[in-house]
Amino acid sequence: MSVEHDPVQRADFDQVMVPNYAPAAFIPVRGQGSRVWDQRGRELIDFAGGIAVNVLGHAHPALVKALTEQANLLWHVSNVFTNEPALRLAKKLVDATFAERVFFCNSGAEANEAAFKLARRVAFNQFGEDKHEIIAATNSFHGRTLFTVSVGGQPKYSDGFGPKIQGISHVPYNDIDALKAAVSSKTCAVVLEPIQGEGGVLPADLEYLQAARALCDEHDALLIFDEVQSGMGRTGSLFAYMHYGVTPDILSSAKSLGGGFPIGAMLTTQELATHFAVGTHGTTYGGNALACAVGEAVIDTINTPEVWAGVQAKHERFKSKLLQIGEQYAVFNEVRGLGLLLGAVLNDKWKGQAKAFLDAATEQDLMVLQAGPDVIRFAPSLVIDDADIDEGLARFERAVAQVVRG
Ligand SMILES: *Cc1c(COP(=O)(O)O)cnc(C)c1O
Repeated sequence: MSVEHDPVQRADFDQVMVPNYAPAAFIPVRGQGSRVWDQRGRELIDFAGGIAVNVLGHAHPALVKALTEQANLLWHVSNVFTNEPALRLAKKLVDATFAERVFFCNSGAEANEAAFKLARRVAFNQFGEDKHEIIAATNSFHGRTLFTVSVGGQPKYSDGFGPKIQGISHVPYNDIDALKAAVSSKTCAVVLEPIQGEGGVLPADLEYLQAARALCDEHDALLIFDEVQSGMGRTGSLFAYMHYGVTPDILSSAKSLGGGFPIGAMLTTQELATHFAVGTHGTTYGGNALACAVGEAVIDTINTPEVWAGVQAKHERFKSKLLQIGEQYAVFNEVRGLGLLLGAVLNDKWKGQAKAFLDAATEQDLMVLQAGPDVIRFAPSLVIDDADIDEGLARFERAVAQVVRG
């Protein structure tokens, strides 16, 4: 075998990878702040943030330091032992939120899997087998495991894999009456994203979350917020529930929590946590020392008044320029979302064509996202330089012009 690395190319993807993704034609090899370079040295501006993950951009010094220091100390010991970074990160999450207990895992789907299993176990222990129903919103996204696609309200992700997890029903998002009609004594949990991310960057109405809280209290059901996308600073608060002032019983976090290193967490109260007794749930990598060391550096770095003020200012900077572009080229007139999770909602003429704008942006050396077929999504670093915002939006404007010209 050759000792030197053979060069790899995008074409290799089709030869060696399961074809469940369709990655871009170029391969990123390096990132710094909100700039990314590909194999050929082409420089791109990153408004995608690894799908709302790279909350501090690429190679942030605080994260590089935490990761490399921990890499020289201890990587992994499993949950047969605990470790210092896991305990430090858990303490910080407990100090900063409603939660009193933390369960670590490796992804958003796993955090939700833990949340749903905990909700069912609590109801089972307290009320018996019948109280197992989970109510979720149509068009919601909670991950890709069988349980989480079953709870997620998007049949395209859940159909075709045999019997789904039973006892789950879906109601239209932001519809208080539909939720009222669905919640019953059999409901063990209501699961909501405070902002539907994949579903189109659609924020909940305050009255909706308040109604969900009241209905859960009335029916002895748990309120679960999936903050995998909205949490860890995206909205300009540490978690979106803080922005709304509506507190869940269980909260799932991932994505920004690791700033690019895989980690997930389920947060809950001391009382509910007791229902996950020794042996009821677990994962080998949960609380991995490298992941938790990075997570600790993320929360230390973002949870400051300066960062929150910056997110608000950058939100305004994005929004006003986006609205101007949308109007000038008559492609969208609504920009929704909170903080630095923004969605430009294509108008009727351009509905269904978000991918065309994404592709045109890539041609202009800009990484953006879509959120469904009708929404162009922006999830940049919370500490992106204003100059990068301005240059990225100039590139976006050229992309829009290109699509409109046809
Ligand atoms: C991304 C996402 C998930 C799934 O997270 P993974 O890390 O991909 O498993 C779950 N819920 C929401 C709201 C998400 O945005």
